[in-house]
Amino acid sequence: MKDVIIVGAGIAGLSAALYCGRQELDVLVIGKNLGGQALLATEIQNYPGVPSTSGFDLVKRIEEQAKGFGAEIMFDEVISLRREGDGFRVGTSSGKEFSSLAIILAFGKTPKDLGVPGENRLKGKGISYCTICDGPLFKGRTTVLIGVGEHGVESADMLSKIAKKLYWIFPAKSPGGDPSLFNAVRSRSNVEVIPSARVLEVRGEKRFESVLIEAGGERREIRGDGLFVEMGYVTKTEFLRGVVDLNERGEIKVDRICRTSVEGIFAAGDVTDMPYKQAIIAASMGAIAALSAYNYIAKLKGKGEMRADWKHLGVKREREGESLFFAPVG
Ligand SMILES: Cc1cc2nc3c(=O)[nH]c(=O)nc-3n(C[C@H](O)[C@H](O)[C@H](O)COP(=O)(O)OP(=O)(O)OC[C@H]3O[C@@H](n4cnc5c(N)ncnc54)[C@H](O)[C@@H]3O)c2cc1C
Repeated sequence: MKDVIIVGAGIAGLSAALYCGRQELDVLVIGKNLGGQALLATEIQNYPGVPSTSGFDLVKRIEEQAKGFGAEIMFDEVISLRREGDGFRVGTSSGKEFSSLAIILAFGKTPKDLGVPGENRLKGKGISYCTICDGPLFKGRTTVLIGVGEHGVESADMLSKIAKKLYWIFPAKSPGGDPSLFNAVRSRSNVEVIPSARVLEVRGEKRFESVLIEAGGERREIRGDGLFVEMGYVTKTEFLRGVVDLNERGEIKVDRICRTSVEGIFAAGDVTDMPYKQAIIAASMGAIAALSAYNYIAKLKGKGEMRADWKHLGVKREREGESLFFAPVG
């Protein structure tokens, strides 16, 4: 039985882990990957105290800080959550189960699927939901992009500069996003734009080979080496329906100290109904959720509440197998 399980290892989850660790809570972070959306941010310029950083560097520093205070991080996908006795039990897609006294939900937003036959089977086999991450692998190849909005237009811009050929498919007359960039991309000789198209199927034997679409009343099969899907982000909270209160967009409702509708379950960052989706806000909500979880557990254990975390602790850091212990500062 852990004190706290945190679902998601993005900025919110790692910040919560850092704060839980400092309160000497036994904390386990379960995340599908390390970093979440921040990995897609090539430059972050609005994180206070850090004039310019890549999302990756920011995440690595928070991870190191969280581990320094004893947080344990493992990679898996949480697919279920239920109450069990005084605490909660989470189940993962690899079939494992873990228990804790409190839960912090910090699993952010996830790229939207196409929801067509063949997609799930070929995920990770030539289908990417992150052009900025995987685009460079398709230098000189034929790429197919199904993309809308700012991400869609920026992805088209990037792929058109890297790939031999880009087919850019979107469901409406225009993809949205920056119109001047859209015009610049579609004027490039290696780009074929296919507007007002409906994707029917993703095809391929062992990896992605083609997409079947319907456009202008006709069916067409577009072949390529890689498929990029940039249809925006959604909160995938279906497994929480009936567990905690969600809003109409599926976001987890929280109060100002990150409590959900269920005592003992807290939430932080982009997965919540907080309207501002920003790195610093995810970090601060992670901190708030952790302090609230600490106070919840303290109450369960008959201990006093805590208002501020200003103490100076020693920090344990693991680097390349070497264990270093830094004495408290101040
Ligand atoms: C391209 C881009 C640029 C950005 N630029 C900026 C910027 O300049 N400044 C700024 O302030 N913000 C920026 N943002 C927004 C910022 O990155 C996010 O607000 C912030 O990272 C959200 O953090 P989070 O931890 O709440 O969620 P996420 O980053 O979404 O992390 C959630 C994590 O949980 C994982 N997860 C999902 N479901 C599960 C599950 N069921 N079980 C386990 N794990 C799960 C995800 O894989 C992910 O790793 C940008 C975002 C993007 C996409």
